[in-house]
Amino acid sequence: MSLFVENFMAEVRAKNPAQPEFHQAVEEVAASLALILDKHPEYSKAKILERIVEPERVIMFRVPWMDDQGNYHVNRGFRIEMNSAIGPYKGGLRFHPSVNLGILKFLAFEQVFKNSLTTLPMGGGKGGSDFDPKGKSDDEVMRFCQSFMMELYRYIGPNTDVPAGDIGVGGREIGFMFGTYKKIRNEFTGVLTGKGLNWGGSLIRPEATGYGAVYFAAEMLATRGETLEGKTCLVSGSGNVAQYTTEKILDLGGKVVTLSDSGGYVYDPAGLDREKLAFVMDLKNVRRGRISEYVEKYKDATYTAVQTTIHHNPLWDHKADCAFPSATQNEINEVDAQNLVKNGVYVISEGANMPTTPEGVNVFLDAKILYGPGKAANAGGVAVSGLEMSQNSMRYSWSREEVDRKLHGIMKSIHASCVQASEKYGTPGNYVNGANIAGFIKVADSMLDQGIYG
Ligand code: NDP
Repeated sequence: MSLFVENFMAEVRAKNPAQPEFHQAVEEVAASLALILDKHPEYSKAKILERIVEPERVIMFRVPWMDDQGNYHVNRGFRIEMNSAIGPYKGGLRFHPSVNLGILKFLAFEQVFKNSLTTLPMGGGKGGSDFDPKGKSDDEVMRFCQSFMMELYRYIGPNTDVPAGDIGVGGREIGFMFGTYKKIRNEFTGVLTGKGLNWGGSLIRPEATGYGAVYFAAEMLATRGETLEGKTCLVSGSGNVAQYTTEKILDLGGKVVTLSDSGGYVYDPAGLDREKLAFVMDLKNVRRGRISEYVEKYKDATYTAVQTTIHHNPLWDHKADCAFPSATQNEINEVDAQNLVKNGVYVISEGANMPTTPEGVNVFLDAKILYGPGKAANAGGVAVSGLEMSQNSMRYSWSREEVDRKLHGIMKSIHASCVQASEKYGTPGNYVNGANIAGFIKVADSMLDQGIYG
């Protein structure tokens, strides 16, 4: 680690104690920026890096709600308004018991660079709660969402901050929150994205993150004159991102042999087909069941439960060509990364945010495989959220083909920006540096233009 990064990180750690995921995300970006700061003394003079790691605003609030039996509960709600230099704050809401300030700050920080890479005018934000929607009735989820929005509505708006979904927040939750916002404000605006198609949503928004991650993989493969046709792929997760990643891999002729949830993973050597994917979508989106049920229906597949005694994830220990981590942060550690490389995987496109630990990332970079980090590879979701905002402003809807064409174009342009920036600053093929540098420069220049409050 360079002296610059060491000193900078010592300050970040001291100022933000007990936020390991935030430190991890900042350190990766700082290491990339060390390559450019000598050439840009104006950034150091204006303390851009010191300012960019400080959220513009952090909102933390109480979310009381009542379960179906009449018992009182209280959860904690958050919104991190990280950076508005290039547009209104934009980023998802996560409902998961692991949510805390440090996790949301890492996500908000990543979001700033990701949104910049999309070329759309969106600043960065993130929010959520430690509420666990698993096992709750629809009524309980509705009451929670209503209580959450009763406070959040004060801070958001179509020109201020536009939240969306993330883990545990899908169409159902966005609907309950939108209804509450509309009731309080008495206005129908594009204050959330990921809305239903009948009430302002965009076609392709549910598909966008997964489709985008696969388009990004296809772009990386194209640099070697290859396609996804016939490639065996490992996918983790079985939620929104994993489902549409699988769908697009099938569209492009690839084979998906794994899916998972927090209980374990399934391995299906024959690969998923459309019927099996439809089963998973119904299982997860309608019946809200566990992925273990897959092997009750498809007998040739095997299920492996999470084993707390081993320190790697056996999902990543199968022969394959490509991997699409699509569950959560730090789901690939150093051993997993070594297993992936050993098993012949040479394309990693991250649907999830920061799914690989820094040690794992180094394994991929040392092996010189095609490694697409989340802030570039999964930017398709927020890109189509940006397109949803545009459609809402115009009061107009584009066709499925039009949105998909725009999404594809944006993913190609993100890929090209990463390649160009990595080459320009002397690390060709390093998409981590490419994404961090390309994402940073646009935000940093905008902050300079806007003076000390930029
Ligand atoms: P969903 O809630 O739809 O699905 C999440 C999936 O990951 C589920 O299968 C879930 O299993 C699994 N999972 C969640 N947490 C853990 C954990 N701690 N350990 C193991 N498995 C876990 O979320 P999304 O598909 O929307 O999000 C997945 C990832 O993609 C996240 O990192 C998110 O930040 C990222 N992302 C999402 C975008 C979007 O548009 N939705 C945009 C960009 C990135 P279980 O059901 O058992 O909890």
